[in-house]
Amino acid sequence: MKNYQIAIMEGDGIGPEIVRETVKVLEAVQRKCPALSLSFKPLPVGLSAYEQHGSTLPKETLESLKQCDAGVLGPVTTHIYEVHDPNMVNPSGKLRKQLDLYANIRPSRNFPGVPGRYDNVDMVIVRENTEGMYADRSLYEGDGEVMPTPDTVMSFRVVTRKASERLAKVGFELAEHRRRSVAVIHKMNVLRRGCGLFVDSCRQIAKQYEDVAVSDYHIDAFSMFMVQKPEQYDVVVTTNMFGDILSDLAAGLVGGLGLAPGLNLGDHFMLAQATHGSAPDIAGKNIANPIAEILSAKLMLEWLGIRNKDEQAITAAALIEMAVERTLLKGVKTGDLGGSATTGQFGDELVRQLENIEIREVTRWNK
Ligand code: ATP
Repeated sequence: MKNYQIAIMEGDGIGPEIVRETVKVLEAVQRKCPALSLSFKPLPVGLSAYEQHGSTLPKETLESLKQCDAGVLGPVTTHIYEVHDPNMVNPSGKLRKQLDLYANIRPSRNFPGVPGRYDNVDMVIVRENTEGMYADRSLYEGDGEVMPTPDTVMSFRVVTRKASERLAKVGFELAEHRRRSVAVIHKMNVLRRGCGLFVDSCRQIAKQYEDVAVSDYHIDAFSMFMVQKPEQYDVVVTTNMFGDILSDLAAGLVGGLGLAPGLNLGDHFMLAQATHGSAPDIAGKNIANPIAEILSAKLMLEWLGIRNKDEQAITAAALIEMAVERTLLKGVKTGDLGGSATTGQFGDELVRQLENIEIREVTRWNK
């Protein structure tokens, strides 16, 4: 039986509160699936790491991560980090780059008991995570933005065939487990070379997945279609910034950021991290919604299962999602979803629901 070493990094703001509930759920699912073996390794990251170890991402954390199979990371309050302090790096961006976590997987779906504008949304945005327009990761050295005069800024956007192809592979692999449809999103009419290379790379990979339907859309038209008929889309593959924006739009279609999980996936490591920020306005009050972080850990188990051909991990992932559904159906919700449960009460109820599910009830994957 494979043992998965999982790094636990709480981060800033509401991070410690939602990561605590996530670990509680992972421990519960491990009790439920005896053939699943997880060990947890707490590692310092964020403002508390800066206070105690002099860096928001201590060297020891990075080194220890290399011994782990996966990690759970809470959100970080990067906008208050001192830009010119080399010890105040953005741990999210740095880890994605250092550990080559090239695909950011962001599902959005309706949950029972959470009223949204639509009923049948179930899509996954697969966003490129290591290049594109994000100034902190597009260059080997330097920050990717140049200011030749006080009133002019030039930002570099990087698109490579290697990054585009490996991203597309993740999208098509995922589609094979789902409804077998991939939409490639771009702005090729204006960014002819960059988006042209991206779309061509995706089309090349598509040839290896003949049973998956592929289409492509300009980002502007696609944004409109997402609002008009979101239930049509299954897997959406796109570049870094487009994916960042579209995934928040997708979260808005189904009930908000509190329900929006994310997984940063590489070939050798993966990092579960909710797509929302550190919500400093509600930090420390025990009212944050932990669902996005918990479902991020669920994605982590799912991909550990895919990568290691481990059915137990995939079943454990499905169990967590079912338990979230049942908790919401029972009406146990945090304030952002119109309920009155605290973060801890939600986690406790989720664990109770999980313990009551029979393994034979578990249906895997959202086909
Ligand atoms: P950061 O500075 O880290 O980006 P932010 O507050 O600017 O944080 P978000 O954290 O994305 O940005 O939050 C936007 C709004 O959504 C805030 O009002 C926040 O309280 C709320 N919010 C975000 N995440 C959650 C959550 N898990 N539970 C409840 N409310 C949340």
